[in-house]
Amino acid sequence: MSAARARHPSLHTVPAEGKPPELLASRCGECGHLAFPAARFGCPSCGAAPERSAPAAIAGRGTLEAFTIVHRTFSRAFPAPYAVGTILLDAGVEIRAVLAPEDRADLETGGRVESCLVPSGEDEDGNALVDCRFRPVPGGEARDGGGAA
Ligand SMILES: [Zn+2]
Repeated sequence: MSAARARHPSLHTVPAEGKPPELLASRCGECGHLAFPAARFGCPSCGAAPERSAPAAIAGRGTLEAFTIVHRTFSRAFPAPYAVGTILLDAGVEIRAVLAPEDRADLETGGRVESCLVPSGEDEDGNALVDCRFRPVPGGEARDGGGAA
Protein backbone atom coordinates (compact mmCIF):
# COMPACT_ATOMS: atom_id res chain seq x y z
CA MET A 1 0.00 0.00 0.00
CA SER A 2 1.39 3.37 -0.96
CA ALA A 3 1.12 6.46 1.20
CA ALA A 4 -1.91 8.63 0.70
CA ARG A 5 -1.55 11.81 -1.32
CA ALA A 6 -3.14 15.18 -0.75
CA ARG A 7 -6.23 15.99 -2.82
CA HIS A 8 -5.01 19.62 -2.71
CA PRO A 9 -1.18 19.34 -2.52
CA SER A 10 -0.65 23.12 -2.66
CA LEU A 11 -2.50 23.58 0.65
CA HIS A 12 -0.95 21.18 3.19
CA THR A 13 1.64 18.52 3.92
CA VAL A 14 0.88 14.82 4.38
CA PRO A 15 3.03 13.81 7.36
CA ALA A 16 3.47 10.36 8.84
CA GLU A 17 0.45 8.65 10.31
CA GLY A 18 -1.04 10.43 13.29
CA LYS A 19 0.82 13.73 12.91
CA PRO A 20 -1.14 16.87 12.06
CA PRO A 21 -0.53 18.32 8.58
CA GLU A 22 1.19 21.67 8.25
CA LEU A 23 -0.40 24.39 6.14
CA LEU A 24 1.56 25.67 3.14
CA ALA A 25 1.56 29.44 3.49
CA SER A 26 3.85 32.17 2.16
CA ARG A 27 5.62 35.04 3.89
CA CYS A 28 6.25 38.34 2.15
CA GLY A 29 9.93 39.34 2.08
CA GLU A 30 8.99 43.04 2.06
CA CYS A 31 6.42 43.41 4.85
CA GLY A 32 6.44 39.99 6.53
CA HIS A 33 2.74 39.36 5.84
CA LEU A 34 1.83 35.69 6.21
CA ALA A 35 -0.70 34.46 3.66
CA PHE A 36 -2.66 31.20 3.51
CA PRO A 37 -3.20 29.87 0.94
CA ALA A 38 0.23 30.94 -0.33
CA ALA A 39 0.03 34.25 -2.21
CA ARG A 40 0.82 33.17 -5.78
CA PHE A 41 0.03 36.55 -7.33
CA GLY A 42 1.87 38.84 -4.95
CA CYS A 43 1.50 40.05 -1.40
CA PRO A 44 -2.14 40.84 -0.52
CA SER A 45 -0.94 43.30 2.13
CA CYS A 46 1.74 45.47 0.46
CA GLY A 47 1.47 44.40 -3.19
CA ALA A 48 5.06 43.11 -3.49
CA ALA A 49 5.70 40.83 -6.48
CA PRO A 50 5.26 37.06 -5.98
CA GLU A 51 9.05 36.53 -6.28
CA ARG A 52 9.41 38.47 -3.00
CA SER A 53 7.43 35.84 -1.06
CA ALA A 54 8.90 32.62 0.31
CA PRO A 55 7.11 29.39 1.21
CA ALA A 56 6.30 29.05 4.91
CA ALA A 57 4.89 25.89 6.48
CA ILE A 58 2.81 26.75 9.52
CA ALA A 59 1.24 24.60 12.21
CA GLY A 60 -2.44 23.87 11.79
CA ARG A 61 -3.26 24.90 15.36
CA GLY A 62 -5.50 27.67 16.44
CA THR A 63 -8.63 28.90 18.13
CA LEU A 64 -12.12 28.34 16.77
CA GLU A 65 -13.62 31.83 16.54
CA ALA A 66 -17.00 30.85 15.12
CA PHE A 67 -18.68 27.88 13.48
CA THR A 68 -21.91 26.79 11.90
CA ILE A 69 -23.55 23.55 10.88
CA VAL A 70 -24.43 23.26 7.20
CA HIS A 71 -27.58 21.21 6.60
CA ARG A 72 -27.67 21.30 2.79
CA THR A 73 -24.81 20.13 0.66
CA PHE A 74 -23.49 21.17 -2.72
CA SER A 75 -21.11 18.26 -3.21
CA ARG A 76 -20.79 14.55 -2.54
CA ALA A 77 -17.45 15.42 -0.92
CA PHE A 78 -19.38 17.20 1.85
CA PRO A 79 -22.28 15.04 3.00
CA ALA A 80 -24.66 17.11 5.15
CA PRO A 81 -24.76 17.94 7.91
CA TYR A 82 -21.19 19.18 8.24
CA ALA A 83 -19.49 21.98 10.13
CA VAL A 84 -17.43 24.93 8.90
CA GLY A 85 -15.58 27.39 11.07
CA THR A 86 -13.46 30.51 11.25
CA ILE A 87 -10.11 29.71 12.88
CA LEU A 88 -7.44 32.11 14.07
CA LEU A 89 -4.24 30.13 13.61
CA ASP A 90 -1.50 30.59 16.22
CA ALA A 91 0.69 31.90 13.36
CA GLY A 92 -1.69 34.88 13.12
CA VAL A 93 -3.65 33.97 9.99
CA GLU A 94 -7.45 33.73 10.02
CA ILE A 95 -8.88 30.99 7.83
CA ARG A 96 -12.20 29.36 7.09
CA ALA A 97 -12.14 25.56 7.10
CA VAL A 98 -14.26 22.45 7.23
CA LEU A 99 -14.37 20.93 10.70
CA ALA A 100 -14.27 17.21 11.42
CA PRO A 101 -15.17 16.70 15.07
CA GLU A 102 -15.69 13.20 16.43
CA ASP A 103 -18.86 14.65 17.93
CA ARG A 104 -20.32 18.03 16.97
CA ALA A 105 -21.09 18.62 20.64
CA ASP A 106 -17.31 19.02 21.07
CA LEU A 107 -17.30 22.19 18.94
CA GLU A 108 -17.00 25.29 21.09
CA THR A 109 -16.40 28.92 20.19
CA GLY A 110 -13.03 29.84 21.69
CA GLY A 111 -11.96 26.20 21.79
CA ARG A 112 -8.65 24.91 20.50
CA VAL A 113 -8.56 23.12 17.15
CA GLU A 114 -5.88 21.29 15.18
CA SER A 115 -5.47 20.18 11.58
CA CYS A 116 -6.02 16.53 10.71
CA LEU A 117 -6.25 14.40 7.59
CA VAL A 118 -9.40 12.63 6.47
CA PRO A 119 -9.89 10.13 3.62
CA SER A 120 -10.99 11.86 0.42
CA GLY A 121 -11.55 9.16 -2.16
CA GLU A 122 -9.05 8.02 -4.77
CA ASP A 123 -7.30 9.49 -7.78
CA GLU A 124 -7.74 8.02 -11.28
CA ASP A 125 -4.99 5.46 -10.56
CA GLY A 126 -6.69 4.17 -7.42
CA ASN A 127 -4.31 5.87 -4.97
CA ALA A 128 -5.86 6.98 -1.69
CA LEU A 129 -6.32 10.73 -1.29
CA VAL A 130 -6.58 12.72 1.92
CA ASP A 131 -7.86 16.20 2.66
CA CYS A 132 -7.24 18.61 5.53
CA ARG A 133 -9.88 19.27 8.18
CA PHE A 134 -9.83 20.71 11.70
CA ARG A 135 -10.96 19.01 14.89
CA PRO A 136 -11.22 20.06 18.51
CA VAL A 137 -8.14 19.30 20.58
CA PRO A 138 -9.09 16.96 23.41
CA GLY A 139 -8.85 18.69 26.77
CA GLY A 140 -8.41 22.12 25.17
CA GLU A 141 -4.56 22.15 25.23
CA ALA A 142 -2.77 25.19 26.53
CA ARG A 143 -1.79 27.78 23.92
CA ASP A 144 1.91 27.42 23.14
CA GLY A 145 4.50 29.15 21.03
CA GLY A 146 4.76 32.34 23.07
CA GLY A 147 1.71 34.16 21.72
CA ALA A 148 1.05 36.18 18.61
CA ALA A 149 3.81 37.56 16.40
ZN1 LIG B 1 4.02 42.33 1.72
